[in-house]
Amino acid sequence: MKKIASALLSVYYKDGLEPIVRLLHEQGVTLYSTGGTQTFIEQLGIPVIPVEDLTGYPSIFGGRVKTLHPAVFGGILYRRDLPEDVAQAERHQIPAIDMVVVDLYPFEETVASGASAEDIIEKIDIGGISLIRAGAKNFADTLIVSSRNQYADVLSILTAKSGATDLDDRRRYAQEAFATTSHYDTAINKYFVGQSATELSDTKAGHATVLRYGENPHQSATFYGDLDAMFDKLHGKELSFNNLVDVDACIQLIDEFADESAAFAIIKHTNACGVATAPTAKEAYLNALACDPVSAFGGVVVTNRPVDLETAEELNKLFMEILIAPEFAPEALTLLQSKKNRILLRRKPVELPTKLVKTILNGVLEQDKDNRTETGADFTVVTDKAPTDSEVKALEFALKVCKHTKSNTIVLAKEGQLLASGVGQTSRVDALRQAIEKAHAFGFDLNGSVMASDAFFPFPDCVEIAHQAGITAVVQPGGSIRDKDSVDYCNANGLAMVTTGVRHFKH
Ligand code: 5GP
Repeated sequence: MKKIASALLSVYYKDGLEPIVRLLHEQGVTLYSTGGTQTFIEQLGIPVIPVEDLTGYPSIFGGRVKTLHPAVFGGILYRRDLPEDVAQAERHQIPAIDMVVVDLYPFEETVASGASAEDIIEKIDIGGISLIRAGAKNFADTLIVSSRNQYADVLSILTAKSGATDLDDRRRYAQEAFATTSHYDTAINKYFVGQSATELSDTKAGHATVLRYGENPHQSATFYGDLDAMFDKLHGKELSFNNLVDVDACIQLIDEFADESAAFAIIKHTNACGVATAPTAKEAYLNALACDPVSAFGGVVVTNRPVDLETAEELNKLFMEILIAPEFAPEALTLLQSKKNRILLRRKPVELPTKLVKTILNGVLEQDKDNRTETGADFTVVTDKAPTDSEVKALEFALKVCKHTKSNTIVLAKEGQLLASGVGQTSRVDALRQAIEKAHAFGFDLNGSVMASDAFFPFPDCVEIAHQAGITAVVQPGGSIRDKDSVDYCNANGLAMVTTGVRHFKH
């Protein structure tokens, strides 16, 4: 049994508090209190010590900081059975607080009332929640009353036990206190999650475009966004659902090559089937196309540079769904507009959202975009042999493509050209085999080429297969417990391997 000698009361809604205050007063308990609660107690004609007398601070920043002070939290938290704690409390003149009564700012109620974002943020209780946690943590010494629903029970305990509580009471109140704080924080979290979803739909609300259908003709679909802000459509029909998905993949990928003199990428079902960089646009396009001219048929093509006439003449030979470029030379545009079934988009410089949202189960997943791109400076050479300068450039290139290809993926490249990739496979070995087979099918000699992997190699099988195909340098995140097996194999067979420490899954 522990007699309560002092109590701190800080409650938002004062109703129901009077009997508690009166009883505590009758039982000779010293009362401390914050502004509004203090006024309420004084109006009952009961003496109360303002918390400011404990802290030496007034309530500041519009009430954001009232009780957050060692004199308050020390008084709640110090261990009464620990001589060092007791001595410290005495030295710092921190009086014990044996009971804490809090009624939190009504956060959920404020959200439900449709209040402004500023009002809602102000209703995130800081000190109250901390008082509750502190009181609950030190339930050995302190009774924490964290809800108005508990007042009747508190009254009956204090009456029956003449102003004392036993450990079981305090423990039960501590448990209920953590239920209160976790419910409160969950409500705040829900508000923030809900708000980001609304922000997203708010910005898109004015720009809903009903699409002909979704991924398949039996699925209806709408695009929420402002395509006109992103593109000038210079030619062609409306974009379909799948077009939009591929255009997005194009933009994400080509932005990796913003600094290159010219880069082209060809996308099919969100994966690249051709990527190349070169001094001229035409060369970059032809090299991208060479990667897999079969898949390129009906693909979505993107470049980081204006399309000139000589490049347009090459592009005009390909059946493509969409061509995206920052600009088209007038003669190039006239030529490209000559075919009906082709969409031409001039891209405008627009900042894209930094978050990705996806519906899943009965909710949404939100995550940051994968905005890390490793360069040679991020590579750690883990083999005896370091990659040559040309291999480093090829590895950097391969990694950029790898990051934007569905997992599991292996990307094979040489400097400035994608040779082949294995995409969306259920094993890394399958991805590598697919890539090698494709590269050979399109006439590439893989000797001296490099490979990038989106995630680490769990076994040395990939480097073995790569070596047999003639690949000489490898980049991967590293971090497998069997990294050494792959490294040993590379060392025994003259391959160079670098690790980045960064995984790039894409699902
Ligand atoms: P009062 O009406 O007594 O001025 O304020 C009571 C309210 O303040 C309670 O809801 C309590 O949870 C909250 N509170 C107590 N200390 C602090 C603090 O330091 N910061 C904030 N933001 N709220 C506090």
